[in-house]
Amino acid sequence: MAAIPHKIAIVGVGKIAHDQHVPSIAGNPDFELVATVSRHGSVDGVEAFTDLGTMLAKRPDIGAVALCMPPQARFSYAVEALAARRHVLLEKPPGATLSEVHELERLAAQRGRTLFATWHSRFAVAVPAAKAWLADRKTERLAITWKEDVRRWHPGQEWIWEPGGLGVFDPGINALSILTAIYPRPLHLVSADLSFPKNRGTPIAASLRFADPEGAEVTAEFDWRQEGPQTWDIEADTGAGHMKLSAGGASLAIDGKKVEQAPDREYAGIYRRFAELIRTDRSDVDLTPMVHVADAFTLGRRIAVEPFEF
Ligand code: NAP
Repeated sequence: MAAIPHKIAIVGVGKIAHDQHVPSIAGNPDFELVATVSRHGSVDGVEAFTDLGTMLAKRPDIGAVALCMPPQARFSYAVEALAARRHVLLEKPPGATLSEVHELERLAAQRGRTLFATWHSRFAVAVPAAKAWLADRKTERLAITWKEDVRRWHPGQEWIWEPGGLGVFDPGINALSILTAIYPRPLHLVSADLSFPKNRGTPIAASLRFADPEGAEVTAEFDWRQEGPQTWDIEADTGAGHMKLSAGGASLAIDGKKVEQAPDREYAGIYRRFAELIRTDRSDVDLTPMVHVADAFTLGRRIAVEPFEF
């Protein structure tokens, strides 16, 4: 007999909720989308609330929430949901600070609920194969190039330019979530150049350099000013060949020959994992990608560049 699906609510109905969460929940028999909480947004045919407290009080049958608002606002919603003993899925990045996410972990454990800090790029199809390939080889150089057009991907999103919105690290942290999943050893940041538009509170570009205990050269270039073709690549040179993970993790080539490529199923993977975590009574909170971003803000040299307007 099939298990009864978890009733779930999406909180913060905007771009990613419509693009990915709604269709991925619809495609997963373990979940049923029964409510939304959003001040302006809603989903056709789904009961809509504008306030989380009201939804939690009126719908005790809803056991899980997916928090899809920008990171600066996420903590108070997560605290309220965990205090009401609901399972919580956090969009990436899981919060505005590391310490607030530690507090959520403590609260989830105390309440006996699942907390899932998602990193959607880790569910890209070629990531496991890239990890397996790197595991057997000695990496000499690894270079991340994550260059996209902010006007195309984040039109009018002011929160991303405010403190806590991460600027170019909003996509860049996706690359770091892959790096920290596939690289065989822990790395630490040793330098960062951060380019801040003169009129904005977050960077539009960043160059990072990491130290590898075994001496490989590991770098990342993030830039939001790229028009034309968009680049989401991780390339590695090893003593035994060259790897190129491209399209944000959806495609893998070894020595120029494509070995894996498939359409995007990242959010389907996220909801499969969320169901498994709930079923096995566990949480999954890996803050390593966010530690590197925090280190970049701590250590980074700030460079003032041209003002940015949409
Ligand atoms: P968005 O569309 O700008 O915002 C999502 C919704 O959050 C808004 O529609 C708004 O709904 C609510 N919201 C905004 N500010 C809020 C606040 N201060 N307090 C409470 N709710 C607020 O953003 P998004 O692009 O969906 O991104 C949301 C999160 O998903 C981010 O962390 C982002 O990094 C992540 N993400 C985005 C994408 C993407 O392609 N856009 C991809 C992967 C992950 P109401 O006004 O109706 O309350």
